[in-house]
Amino acid sequence: MITRTIATCQTEDWQNQLSTAFTSVNSLLEHLQIPKSQYPEWIQAEKDFPLRVPRAFVNKMSKGDINDPLLKQVLPLPLETLDIDGYVEDPLQELTANPIKGLLHKYRSRVLVILGSACAIHCRYCFRRHFPYQDNGISTKEMSLIIDYVGQNTDINEVILSGGDPLVTNNTRLSRLIKALEQIPHLRRIRFHTRTPVVIPERIDKEFIDILSQTRLQVLMVLHCNHAHEIDDLFTNAMAQLKNAGVTLLNQSVLLKGINDTPEALIELSESLFTAHILPYYLHLLDPVAGASHFDVNESIGKSLITTLLSALPGYLVPKLVREEAHRTSKTPISILTEESSQSCN
Ligand SMILES: *Cc1c(COP(=O)(O)O)cnc(C)c1O
Ligand code: SF4
Repeated sequence: MITRTIATCQTEDWQNQLSTAFTSVNSLLEHLQIPKSQYPEWIQAEKDFPLRVPRAFVNKMSKGDINDPLLKQVLPLPLETLDIDGYVEDPLQELTANPIKGLLHKYRSRVLVILGSACAIHCRYCFRRHFPYQDNGISTKEMSLIIDYVGQNTDINEVILSGGDPLVTNNTRLSRLIKALEQIPHLRRIRFHTRTPVVIPERIDKEFIDILSQTRLQVLMVLHCNHAHEIDDLFTNAMAQLKNAGVTLLNQSVLLKGINDTPEALIELSESLFTAHILPYYLHLLDPVAGASHFDVNESIGKSLITTLLSALPGYLVPKLVREEAHRTSKTPISILTEESSQSCN
């Protein structure tokens, strides 16, 4: 009886979590029992990109710790308003790679669809923090133009649903889209790039699992976890359901100063991901987006971290260190080979 009640409430539950997310610094700090005196003036940073953090994610933070690695990802800081050379609003020049509104076709075999404008959480380091999402929220008409584009371009075998966050979109709309995409014979895979299950695990509801189980397309989900503390039982259970539905689970992280830029943090992250049935995929060097420079970890530190991971973990738990650059045909892998080590191969 109790189980039944939970099952029928699930859909409403994730939407409820979306609408009851913390949107004020004051109430978040109060909830975490952090005295306001520990928090510097922010004002402008919060205005430019408002705070948004769902309760399930806040529940994974430790109380009373202004340096909590999850809190640091969402708390606006005065540092964000500094004007730093080389940090720009659209570092990937995505605004010029849109063949159709809501569609990015940068890499030959796969397209990225910007499904909706919203995210369940606002991450301070986000490279799309200045992206004019309002202009890219797509209508039914635009969706059919995107489907036509994929149908006419036989190079494309994979459609990536991104955003914003594609899982802020409801099941009815996702189901309609997947049904249209599976009619395209040359399409093999559909991939979700999402952080929603990490911050609202209830989003992986039965209806969504059914939609994924029924499609002929192979389904991948690339989660976005940056720290082992983001992985708890609720999230792990959601991942187990996806795994049972045949979904391939991968993770991408951003290398973030003061959050995951130590060997211990990255090793623990990889181990915890695997416990949750997820393999590490990419570790991104920060995109130089205005407002995020204080998160930057330089490339040589990134390389030495990967070297340490290689000696501590099995190869399948070491993510690929990459940078994303405008006008490239793929992400740019960062080689960890120094001149010295490549010479020693002779
Ligand atoms: C990252 C990205 C992809 C996917 O790249 P993979 O290497 O296949 O993960 C596709 N399109 C765009 C625009 C991207 O930024
Ligand atoms: S969920 Fe992803 S797209 Fe949304 S703010 Fe965070 S990093 Fe950016």
